[in-house]
Amino acid sequence: MTQRIHIAGGGIMGMGAAWRLASAGLEVVVHDPAGPGQETSRASAGMLAPRAEVRHDEEDLLVFGARSQAMWPDWVARLREETGIDCDLRSPGTLVLAADEDERRGIEHHLRWLERIDVPFDALDGDDIRRLEPDLSHHVLSGALIHGDGQVDNRAFLHALHVRLQSLGVTLLSASRITRVVADGGRVTAVETADGERHDTDAALIAAGAWSRQVRIDGLPPLPVRPVRGQLLAFGAADRHGQRTTLRHAIHTPNVYLAQKGDGTILAGATMEERGFERETNTGALYLHLRETRRLIPQVDELPLEEIRIGFRPTTRDNRPLLGETPVRGAWCLTGHFRNGIQQAPASVDAVVDLILGRTPPADTLPFCPSRFLNR
Ligand SMILES: Cc1cc2nc3c(=O)[nH]c(=O)nc-3n(C[C@H](O)[C@H](O)[C@H](O)COP(=O)(O)OP(=O)(O)OC[C@H]3O[C@@H](n4cnc5c(N)ncnc54)[C@H](O)[C@@H]3O)c2cc1C
Repeated sequence: MTQRIHIAGGGIMGMGAAWRLASAGLEVVVHDPAGPGQETSRASAGMLAPRAEVRHDEEDLLVFGARSQAMWPDWVARLREETGIDCDLRSPGTLVLAADEDERRGIEHHLRWLERIDVPFDALDGDDIRRLEPDLSHHVLSGALIHGDGQVDNRAFLHALHVRLQSLGVTLLSASRITRVVADGGRVTAVETADGERHDTDAALIAAGAWSRQVRIDGLPPLPVRPVRGQLLAFGAADRHGQRTTLRHAIHTPNVYLAQKGDGTILAGATMEERGFERETNTGALYLHLRETRRLIPQVDELPLEEIRIGFRPTTRDNRPLLGETPVRGAWCLTGHFRNGIQQAPASVDAVVDLILGRTPPADTLPFCPSRFLNR
């Protein structure tokens, strides 16, 4: 029976698990060298769009993501009750749009597939779309409103989690990096940190996002997680004359998505780059990205650029997460969520917490077991 657990990582996964485990009465210690909620979960756009973003070989992720998204209202309500912090959860659907002929054909193909798998949407022409979103460019030709998708204020949610962990008495070790999960006789006995500390423990949870590979588990190969960098632009909603741009839905095209947060900030995301953990922005990627944004909202020329967010998507070889126990008893994984970690957080966290507490998780999580990669 697990009583004490050390968690590597204080992103949405690590803090989410700490919240549920501490609420169940476990003694929980969270380690994070950057401090809780400062990395990829903070850079994210907070889109909950399993239906708009799904690719044709990802039907399993659609089922899992849609179930996870349906859990978000309960997560937000519980945390609001416990902390008084609201996280601006909205589900008006995603507008999937085409701004040229190639995109139009690609989207039609995608919609035919969504129809076959019973995802509800309304097909729209350009005029319908501008009635829904008057601030979009006349370049937009056609598209669809995909029902069910939404967004959350991920930064508010991370803040609320942090506040709740403090009131639950979780130990938060900022500036602490777990380097090794120590195992004896095939089960976890301790974790070691970069500053040479050793902490005895019953269990260790690796939720270190794109850095998960750097946490070594005795007797196992490194976790197969690599960073895929994303840059996202954040604009103020009003130009210098006070003219505001308003987007009611999250907007998705094959090359860019736009989401307006509760404070008016418009997010345009996100590049996909194989650049390791490089933190410098590169103009070329941002130029291409800005060009796509400008096709949808030409008025972006006059909006203030407030922030360039950089994050590192934790990515596995099959683009699916690692959820569950490794072949070392007491060494758990909650990582590898690639571009869907916010959306998939409730179902992922609850599944791993169920397993740690000896309960059976829903069957759709079982294929994400880490042992598919970890042969000793
Ligand atoms: C630009 C961008 C936009 C995105 N938009 C969306 C979106 O709209 N919707 C969506 O669902 N997903 C989105 N994603 C993906 C999503 O952000 C990630 O899948 C998710 O945040 C991963 O959460 P995490 O907790 O695993 O990682 P992180 O939030 O990165 O947390 C991992 C933590 O582990 C810590 N750490 C590192 N090494 C160690 C160690 N050795 N010991 C202890 N701690 C360690 C780090 O400091 C970090 O705080 C986006 C990603 C990017 C980059």
